[in-house]
Amino acid sequence: MVEAQTVQTDTEYYDIVIVGGGMVGISLALLLAHQQHSWKILLLEAQAFQAADKFEYRPSFDARSTAVSWSSRKIFEASQLWDALQSHASPIHHIHVSDRGHLGLTRIDAAEAGVDALGYVIENSWMGRVLMERLAASDVEVVAPARVASMTPLKQGMSIALDDSERNIHAALVVIADGAQSQTAQKMGIQSNTQPYGQQGIIANIAVEKPHDGTAYERFTEQGPMAMLPLPDFEGSARCALVWTKPNEVAEQLMAATDDAFLQLLQDSFGYRLGQLQKVGTRHSYPLALTTASEQVRRNLVVLGNAAHSLHPVAGQGFNLSLRDVAVLAEVLGKARLQGVDFASLDVLQRYQSRQLRDQQNTLLFSDGLPKLFAKASSTVAFGRNAGLLMMDLSPGLRAGFAQFGMGMVAKEAEHG
Ligand SMILES: Cc1cc2nc3c(=O)[nH]c(=O)nc-3n(C[C@H](O)[C@H](O)[C@H](O)COP(=O)(O)OP(=O)(O)OC[C@H]3O[C@@H](n4cnc5c(N)ncnc54)[C@H](O)[C@@H]3O)c2cc1C
Repeated sequence: MVEAQTVQTDTEYYDIVIVGGGMVGISLALLLAHQQHSWKILLLEAQAFQAADKFEYRPSFDARSTAVSWSSRKIFEASQLWDALQSHASPIHHIHVSDRGHLGLTRIDAAEAGVDALGYVIENSWMGRVLMERLAASDVEVVAPARVASMTPLKQGMSIALDDSERNIHAALVVIADGAQSQTAQKMGIQSNTQPYGQQGIIANIAVEKPHDGTAYERFTEQGPMAMLPLPDFEGSARCALVWTKPNEVAEQLMAATDDAFLQLLQDSFGYRLGQLQKVGTRHSYPLALTTASEQVRRNLVVLGNAAHSLHPVAGQGFNLSLRDVAVLAEVLGKARLQGVDFASLDVLQRYQSRQLRDQQNTLLFSDGLPKLFAKASSTVAFGRNAGLLMMDLSPGLRAGFAQFGMGMVAKEAEHG
């Protein structure tokens, strides 16, 4: 790649330009703004943002949700976002893991793990509202809609040109957070390695007869895992957020089925732990793949969020892992700024990457391996996984380990221990 030597005189200078205003890009912008290191930040988002004062939060039966881990709560607390987020969060007090058609079953309790909750389920519309409000109140400059036309490495920093804009932007550091199969990363010669699972994740909200009691159900079947996550009640009815993984052709049939037929098939698969399943909201389906970027850091460049790693949603780890990446990146950048070191140097950015490497590898292995293990029908494997689940039920240590992983703490402990 050719390095341009100069920048033009009408150039606008930023410390950090974030490409992509999804949950990850905005979270990074807010964590950096909260540091009060006077970062000059520009956030570029391809879609038009709704103005924060017009961004109404209306609870709805069709809302989509994210399971947020205990470690994510800690990160949001440190950046003073948690108080607002938790006002519409549903705590997970128990996780109930079962294997359809087999014996194994285990239950993980928050009290046993020594925490108030194993995680929280937050509607994306609420999370969006809180993040957008804070963004509007921060010093972060936002351009939306905006698309990067080209990025050119300079002797120092990067030059960025936008589609349909005359602006000449210079960034000391560019953070690419524009989602899986990142077009911006591809422009820089960074490839996305994609391994499709041949499955789709169907999500929908389900009204259930019995209270869920803060229990998240993870059920493994040979066709793929299913999660029913506790949501706040809506219009007097208990509600769960369903994430149902199915092979592509089955998922298409389920998407085309009537609500009644869908509910009946779900009931047959999930059973009656929550009584009769009563109503299903709008269904959405997502093709599932493990996607990883061929590089995550270069001098003046970081790839983050789904653009860096996009995971199977079985364990609800994608956003949580990315938020841990965001927190460590913000900390490393902040420290370099304080020390007067070039925060966009390869040396500093590799410090971020080496701190997160283990966490990323563990989370990828867990999210990729779990559905594959449970998909295997052979009796030996079935015995192994059932024995594992039963042992987990008998052994508080093992169960606590699984809970710690779900809470996003294992890698942190390994790092400090
Ligand atoms: C069914 C399902 C359930 C899930 N459940 C959970 C869960 O419970 N817990 C969890 O932790 N994770 C979960 N995840 C994962 C989570 O949704 C992702 O990790 C998270 O959304 C990634 O956010 P992101 O900001 O990196 O990417 P995105 O959400 O894809 O955002 C990228 C942003 O970049 C913008 N953009 C794209 N191209 C450009 C461009 N050229 N220039 C500028 N902007 C651009 C897009 O408009 C978008 O706003 C789930 C995923 C799925 C599919």
